[in-house]
Amino acid sequence: MSDMTQVPPSPLLSIVVPFYNEGPNVEALFVKLTAMLDRLGMAWEVVCVNDGSRDDTLARLLAAHAADGRIKVVDLSRNFGKELALSCGLAHSKGDAVIPMDADLQHPPEAIQMMLEKWREGFDVVYAVRHARVGQGLASRLFAKAFYWVFENLAEVPLPREAGDFRLMDRKVVDVINRMPERSRFMKGIFAWVGFRQTGIPYEQGERMAGGTKWGFLKLFSFALDGLTSFSTFPLRVWSYIGGAIAGLAFFYIVFRVIRTLLFGVDIPGYESILIIMLFLGGMQLLTLGILGDYIGRVFNEVKGRPLWIVRSTHGIEDSE
Ligand code: UDP
Ligand code: MG
Repeated sequence: MSDMTQVPPSPLLSIVVPFYNEGPNVEALFVKLTAMLDRLGMAWEVVCVNDGSRDDTLARLLAAHAADGRIKVVDLSRNFGKELALSCGLAHSKGDAVIPMDADLQHPPEAIQMMLEKWREGFDVVYAVRHARVGQGLASRLFAKAFYWVFENLAEVPLPREAGDFRLMDRKVVDVINRMPERSRFMKGIFAWVGFRQTGIPYEQGERMAGGTKWGFLKLFSFALDGLTSFSTFPLRVWSYIGGAIAGLAFFYIVFRVIRTLLFGVDIPGYESILIIMLFLGGMQLLTLGILGDYIGRVFNEVKGRPLWIVRSTHGIEDSE
């Protein structure tokens, strides 16, 4: 099986963790994670990205780095958001296999063992599939369901359901992702888009340890919209179909009105029908403009070509770009 991924004889494993105001979770995470990693019997590093935290996260990360050099720290100049923090961590990781993880211990380190087994079997990507969503309200769960449904039907690539960022990636996959220059980084979509030999393993998502989630409903909604418009042009194209359908219906309606007027004359002035049609078309036009605006805004953002993130300092990372 020559096309299978060959795991090098003494591989390095990189764990990439974005931190945003996770002070209370830092120590607990490392206690659990490093114990787990040491049991694996392979070389490892943990690349921590401090995403502009305003609490003592950075100080705690630096203390952890001082205690164990395999814990490395990249400090960003401000909060860039989870997707960019994660991309930055991937770019600074050196491992033959790389696993992004959340800082709040919702991703159980125990699953890493299983991912490594699949990797050794020859898979390039092993994503963890959530059994159940914990700590989320009914509205969020329904919303997530609806999102996956829409995405599955519209986007260029299928998105594995209930698979998040928690996954193992082979070095060659990480290299491809690092070379993707786009600014709106819907990582779930990017992970799926790159392809390669992928498989899933189940895992039980734990409760968040300390602090609350950083995702309100509005943020989730705009995240979903971002993902959709990054990986599909359907929202742009659908309006030509809808416009065509409306124009066709309008044509028949006009024919009907003309014949009726010729046969029976004008009875009631058609003021309501005109108003309704105008309001309806006006609404459709505004909606279409909004969608166009969204894509144009995205083009504008990409065209500016600014760096995706800005590093203030690194600790323990050699030859950073
Ligand atoms: N995070 C980040 N930057 C942000 C928001 C979140 O780096 O702007 C990190 C956060 O510290 C955590 C991970 O992303 O490690 C997931 O965040 P959270 O637990 O709030 O998301 P959820 O699990 O609710 O999806
Ligand atoms: Mg979480």
